[in-house]
Amino acid sequence: MAVADKYEMVCGLEVHVELQTKTKIFCGCTTEFGGEQNTHVCPVCLGMPGALPVLNREVVNYAIKAGLALESEIAQFSKFDRKNYFYPDLSKNYQTSQFDLPICIKGGLEIEAEGEKKWIGITRAHMEEDAGKLVHSGETISTSNESSVDYNRAGVPLLEIVSEPDMRTIPEVLAYLEKLVQILEYTEVSDCRLEQGSVRFDVNVSLRPIGATSLGTRTETKNLNSFSSVRRCMEYEIARQARVLDAGENVVQETRTWDEGQGITLTLRSKEEAHDYRYFPEPDLAPLIIDREWVEKIRKTLPELPAARRTRLQALGLSAYDATVITQAKAMADFFDEALASYGDAKTLANWIMGDVTRLLNTNQCRVADSPISAKQLAELLALIDKGTLSGKIAKSVLEEMYSTGKDPSIIVKEKGLAQISDEGALLGIIDSVIAANPQSVEDYRAGKDRAIGFLVGQIMKATKGQANPGLVNQLLKEKLS
Ligand SMILES: [Zn+2]
Repeated sequence: MAVADKYEMVCGLEVHVELQTKTKIFCGCTTEFGGEQNTHVCPVCLGMPGALPVLNREVVNYAIKAGLALESEIAQFSKFDRKNYFYPDLSKNYQTSQFDLPICIKGGLEIEAEGEKKWIGITRAHMEEDAGKLVHSGETISTSNESSVDYNRAGVPLLEIVSEPDMRTIPEVLAYLEKLVQILEYTEVSDCRLEQGSVRFDVNVSLRPIGATSLGTRTETKNLNSFSSVRRCMEYEIARQARVLDAGENVVQETRTWDEGQGITLTLRSKEEAHDYRYFPEPDLAPLIIDREWVEKIRKTLPELPAARRTRLQALGLSAYDATVITQAKAMADFFDEALASYGDAKTLANWIMGDVTRLLNTNQCRVADSPISAKQLAELLALIDKGTLSGKIAKSVLEEMYSTGKDPSIIVKEKGLAQISDEGALLGIIDSVIAANPQSVEDYRAGKDRAIGFLVGQIMKATKGQANPGLVNQLLKEKLS
C-alpha cells in the first residue's frame, strides 16, 4: 500500500528571511554579505558586557511592509524577548527575538497546487537577530581539525514567518514557498538570494492515519536553503516516518538536520519546548509601539502585488499562463510595464519578452535586471515592425545585435541597411526578373496551382535577402500574373 493511501501528511513551515537593511538590527554594522571574518562587528553585535542595543527603525518598516503584504494584522504593541541558549555562534548566549507579542499576527496567502486553489494561514511573523556562522577547516564539524566563528552575520535582521500546519502535499508546500518568496521579492524587503542564505526554511512534518483528526508527532528539519532541498527532505522524512509507524513504533519529536550529500535527515537534538529557552522580556529595549499612522504610511509604499498584477495583465488580453510567466519575477514584470508604456500591444509584447528576449537572456545567463536591451529599446523595435520598416524575421536578428551592442534598433537598421524594401519601383524590377527566370512556376500558377505563388515569393525574398515587404510582394506579384 502506498504511503499516501495510508497516511495523511501535515506540514507547517517556519521561514527565516534576512531583511535587506543597510545596517544590522541593533547596531550600525553593515549587513553586507561576505567580507573577511569578523570585520562587520562591534561591541553590540559581539555581545560585549555593557553594550546597549538600539532598534533599527528600518527593520520595523520592512517587517510592517511584509506583514501588510501577507495580510497580517500589525500589532500596536509588541516587544522583544531574550531566547536563551548556549552555542558559539551567538556570543551573548541569548538571541534577541520576539516571543509572546510578535509584530505581525495572523495573515496568509492563496496558493494554487495541482489545479486547486487553497488558503494557507500564517500564524505570526516576528523580528529577531541572526546568529554568526561556524566555519570549519574540513567538510563538516566532525572531520575538521579546527573551526572558527565568524560574527559578520550576527545581528543581521531576520523576519521569521510561521505558517499554520495547513499543507498536505509536497506540491502545496512548494507552491507556498514560491508564493511567499515572490511576495517578499516584490515588496523588496529581502533580496531573496537563496544561494546566499537570505531565506532559510524549517520544515515541520508529521503523518497521521487517513481520516484521523488529531495531529501525529512531528519532526522539525532546520535550515534548508533551496526549494529542491525542501522537496527531497520531505520525500525522505515522509517515507522514514511511514516506516516507523508501519513497524508499530512512535515517531520521536525532535529537531533534525538535512544532509544534502547523502540525501537524508539526521537527528540533531531532541525537540526543545519554549520553556527550555527561558524566554524573558529584553530589559535593554523598550516595548515597540506602532501607531496607525505609521502603518498607513508604510501601506502607501506597498507595490502592486503579484496577484493584482496578474489580473491587470489578463485584463489587457494576456492569457492566464502568459500573465503568470511575466509576473513570476518582479524585474520581468517591471520590464514588461516599462515597455508597455511606449508600445501598446500587450500580447505581442508578451510574446517577444517570453520568447526571444528570454532566450537571449538565458543563453547568456543574464538576469532581466541586467539586460543590455532596455524595455524602451524593445518597444522601439516592435514599433519598427508595425510601421513596416522591419520584417519580423529581420527584427529577430536586430534584437540579437541590440543585445550584443546595446545600440538602439533604429541605429542598427540604418548602419546595416536592414530597412524593409517597401518601394514599389525597386520591387517591380526584382519581380520581373524572378518571373522571367521561373516560367514553369508562372505557368503552374496560371493553371490554377495556387501553391506556385509561394515559391515565387520565396525567390523574391531570397533576392532581397529577406528585406522585401512580403505583403507588398504578394500583392504586386498577383497583379503582374493576372
Ligand atoms: Zn555591530
